[in-house]
Amino acid sequence: MNRLVLIVAVTLSTALYAQPAPTTAPTTAPATAPATAPAAGPATQPAAATTVDLRTSFVVNLHFYVRTRMEEEGSRRDLVGVPEAVEAARKLEAAMGGRAQWGLVEPTLARCESTADAVTALARLPETYRLRSGAEVRLRHEAVELAWAYTRLEGEFRKSVWPMHEAVLAQARAHLGAEFLPVQGACFAQVLAHLGIRDPALKIPVYLVAEIPLPGGFTYRQRGTGGVCFIGAAGAEGSLLDEMVLHEATHVLDFVSADQDTALNALRARLSAAGLGAPASEYENVPHLLMFVESGEAIRRCLAPRHEHYAEVVGYYELFSDHTRAIRPAWTDHLDGKISRDAALDRMVGMLRPGQPPGP
Ligand SMILES: [Zn+2]
Repeated sequence: MNRLVLIVAVTLSTALYAQPAPTTAPTTAPATAPATAPAAGPATQPAAATTVDLRTSFVVNLHFYVRTRMEEEGSRRDLVGVPEAVEAARKLEAAMGGRAQWGLVEPTLARCESTADAVTALARLPETYRLRSGAEVRLRHEAVELAWAYTRLEGEFRKSVWPMHEAVLAQARAHLGAEFLPVQGACFAQVLAHLGIRDPALKIPVYLVAEIPLPGGFTYRQRGTGGVCFIGAAGAEGSLLDEMVLHEATHVLDFVSADQDTALNALRARLSAAGLGAPASEYENVPHLLMFVESGEAIRRCLAPRHEHYAEVVGYYELFSDHTRAIRPAWTDHLDGKISRDAALDRMVGMLRPGQPPGP
């Protein structure tokens, strides 16, 4: 994806910042006596049982193509059937209560082999759905209308767009198959050890998508697999794509460890104690930034020593530089064995909220 466009999109979200990291991963213990053992890495950690299950789906690609067209500015020439599908997607989004609610239908679409399947599957959704906020939203009628619009678009899309999408997806799969999949057990072992999450032994479905709206990746909770991820395969290349896969999968690890003493939960507790609990934007954004730092470091330490973090490359760290200054150096020091996890978390929150007690 175009970097500038992504930066604009990130500006719309709330969150955080940046500090240059070492250009190579340390290969030896720090010269000074570590305050704690170095955070466990692949050398000390058996491979995790958790893996990703890479998938591609015609229906998912058609759907995200329509969502992308719905959100983009400009005048790309539309295929026959696209304006109607875009209008149906707009109506469904409005009925569900906004862009954040697509998780109500996208995991279902991912299980469909054809647009006809989508009509049947979405017809089984409840007529209405009560959101966590307590609001009740309409779901089934508008979702089925969208699926019907997809049946009318399918032929033209398959002829004019799908071959290009298939080529993009094949390239992404080939890269991930050669680079990420062979070491994913070590990467997940690092992330699980660093974040203090028990290995849930999940096979996390990750759908590769050729065209996807910003920010280029979406992950939703899903029973049985913990979650399901959708990732824009054209938006990042090389180890950036590897990091996107690991990052989205890390959201799933976070979903399934809500009752554990993980680094993310300990950070949330400290944020709350410092007056930065929900609905403060930091409560969402600071743990998310820690995920960016962790997944970027895991790729660098497991797979690509010259890897630049995704959040660095797309400008996310820079946009939220105050938060990045608090999070990234502290977590890197922890990973290098210089300070304990709790000392790193205390330092982060102390920088975000000077003068406040850091501990919960
Ligand atoms: Zn994320």
